[in-house]
Amino acid sequence: MSKATIIGGGTVGLFTAYYLAEAGIEVTVIDQGDLTQGCSIGNAGMIVPSHFVPLASPGMIGKGVKWMFSAKSPFYIHPRLDRRLVEWCLLFYRSANKKHVDRSLPYLKNLSLLSKSLYFDFARQYPEAGIGLEEKGLLMLYKTAAVEHEEVEMAALSNANGIAANVLSRNEVRELEPDADLDVRGAVHFTGDAHLDPAKLHDFLKRHLLARGVRLVGQAEVQRFAHSNGRITHVVTNQGEFACDQLVVCAGAWSGKVARLLGLKLPMLSGKGYSFMQSNQPAIRTPAILTEQKVAVTPFGAQVRFGGTMEITDTDHRVNAKRVQGIYEAISRYYAGFTPTPPAPETIWSGLRPCSPDGMPYIGPTARWQNVHFGTGHGMMGISLAPATGLLLAEQLRQKEASVLTDAFSPDRYS
Ligand SMILES: Cc1cc2nc3c(=O)[nH]c(=O)nc-3n(C[C@H](O)[C@H](O)[C@H](O)COP(=O)(O)OP(=O)(O)OC[C@H]3O[C@@H](n4cnc5c(N)ncnc54)[C@H](O)[C@@H]3O)c2cc1C
Repeated sequence: MSKATIIGGGTVGLFTAYYLAEAGIEVTVIDQGDLTQGCSIGNAGMIVPSHFVPLASPGMIGKGVKWMFSAKSPFYIHPRLDRRLVEWCLLFYRSANKKHVDRSLPYLKNLSLLSKSLYFDFARQYPEAGIGLEEKGLLMLYKTAAVEHEEVEMAALSNANGIAANVLSRNEVRELEPDADLDVRGAVHFTGDAHLDPAKLHDFLKRHLLARGVRLVGQAEVQRFAHSNGRITHVVTNQGEFACDQLVVCAGAWSGKVARLLGLKLPMLSGKGYSFMQSNQPAIRTPAILTEQKVAVTPFGAQVRFGGTMEITDTDHRVNAKRVQGIYEAISRYYAGFTPTPPAPETIWSGLRPCSPDGMPYIGPTARWQNVHFGTGHGMMGISLAPATGLLLAEQLRQKEASVLTDAFSPDRYS
């Protein structure tokens, strides 16, 4: 194999291009936009080995139903009679149990740890990239006894699985965040989590790939495929046809649609979320999740990003002002010393997380075609898991031994 075509120039597609190009393969990346309109730019940029439990897990159904009745809640499914939505919800329901979590845990953990170590290798190799990679950990801040109980249980499970987690009292957290006047009951500190600036990462990857001779084709929407003898031979876009030797679909929340063009069933919905920046004054130092509100907080020097909500939807980017208000109002409830400024509508970013119903990514080949792989469905963890996904796909395409076990990620698991 000497040539590969990747659909989707988000961070997963670009890291796949990176590892394929490293192996001397000629790569073309095709994107329907300018490669910045997916989910990979305004997210919270957290690298989270602590998140080894898939979204489909016990308790999520009950919480989801409760949140559905609040306009400002962090989770929402717009109830509608749509076959794909109903099917996705049924599959989610079927996976939201302990057996699924026990089976998935080692796969997600190993993928995540591999990814984190690849990020640190990457940052060492390209110090000029300035991606802002730092290992400051992640604080799961809580205000209520009920959530404290859940987080302390999660910390115990983490430590039992070799992921360090310290339970901190109110005063201990306030020592870590001396300026922001934290009003919390306590926190769990996952000391091995890291964060980076996702926009800088994406920008550097683009420049690096172009310099390496990777072709990045923007404004080319994939519309259909031509095939012969069980192989995809051409990708047909609104900008013409691209001959194809090996095809990798990294089309984020749109991957289900691309899969249908390939005659495949890949259940996928978007988990829409929002973020906005604020001046980081008084300084918030450590990335955090405001757990009751599910708001992510990432300091980037003089600026800090607040992001959250998960609206299960199709692929529209419309901003729901009430949910943004929910994120905004959470800030000073936790950081009492922080007075946020209401974000102007044009500064609110929205992104579509590619969500599979079992909370596991789709990484690997499909039996339907001899030359098609998928790298998508990472939900809340696409940045975290992008380098490992790219490396695994490059290994699979080159028929090399995989760095970690991948069978649970098969894109054929629902076909
Ligand atoms: C508020 C928020 C916070 C988040 N925080 C984090 C975090 O802290 N850590 C983390 O790991 N993850 C986080 N995420 C999730 C993360 O952003 C996503 O999982 C990740 O960006 C997905 O990357 P991707 O490359 O798969 O998809 P995308 O970045 O969406 O890229 C997909 C690309 O495919 C292209 N495409 C689609 N269809 C076609 C077609 N038919 N033809 C051509 N091109 C096509 C699109 O134009 C797009 O550029 C967050 C998400 C949100 C919304």
